[in-house]
Amino acid sequence: MLDTAKIVEIIRAIAARIESEKDCLTQLDNEIGDGDHGINMARGFKAVAEKLPELSGGDMGTVLKGVGMQLVSNVGGASGPLYGTAFMKAGNVLNGKDEIGAQDFAQALAAAIGGIEMRGKSTEGEKTMLDALCPAYKALEEKLAAGADLKAAMGAAVEAAQKGTEYTKTIVATKGRASYLGERSLGHQDPGATSSLYMLQEIYKCL
Ligand code: ADP
Ligand code: MG
Repeated sequence: MLDTAKIVEIIRAIAARIESEKDCLTQLDNEIGDGDHGINMARGFKAVAEKLPELSGGDMGTVLKGVGMQLVSNVGGASGPLYGTAFMKAGNVLNGKDEIGAQDFAQALAAAIGGIEMRGKSTEGEKTMLDALCPAYKALEEKLAAGADLKAAMGAAVEAAQKGTEYTKTIVATKGRASYLGERSLGHQDPGATSSLYMLQEIYKCL
């Protein structure tokens, strides 16, 4: 079971983690992009953290949609609208809820991923955040179907996201700024997959 207070705690943990990994994310984006992913994300999540006290009076849907809106309006770069859409879509699924179970959580994650795919016209295997998120969702679903609880299932999801993020080093980018590099994007880890991995790790730690 997850309640709204827990969701707020998770968002706060994600904001702190993004801030502390700012340089690392920016370094990764220096290699295959324009070197702003850490700066973009830290700016967005700082705005989120500032808005949280006001948002936390609402239900889960309100919180997550508020987070999404802060990201869309404060993150420059491609990742803002993508993560923003993801949080808003998750918020739509959890509209009006103050408590959810593992299945609701999985549905919200699926909606978040669907939002990124729609907004980014992208799919797994293109060296993006989806290469962390899609395997994570698959692992989560598999474990839940096998009877695992949310914490155990999220543990498997984080492992899958780790592998997926590692895998981005071995593929060529076909979406986003890194796609301009073509073959030269090989050997580099995708910054967006890395920020997604951090978010999933924070969710797991808070459960
Ligand atoms: P920008 O590329 O505009 O500078 P960021 O540096 O903040 O934006 O974010 C880059 C990350 O966004 C990439 O590492 C990748 O994971 C993700 N990304 C870019 N384009 C797409 C897309 N079409 N679909 C999914 N993710 C994408
Ligand atoms: Mg960038």
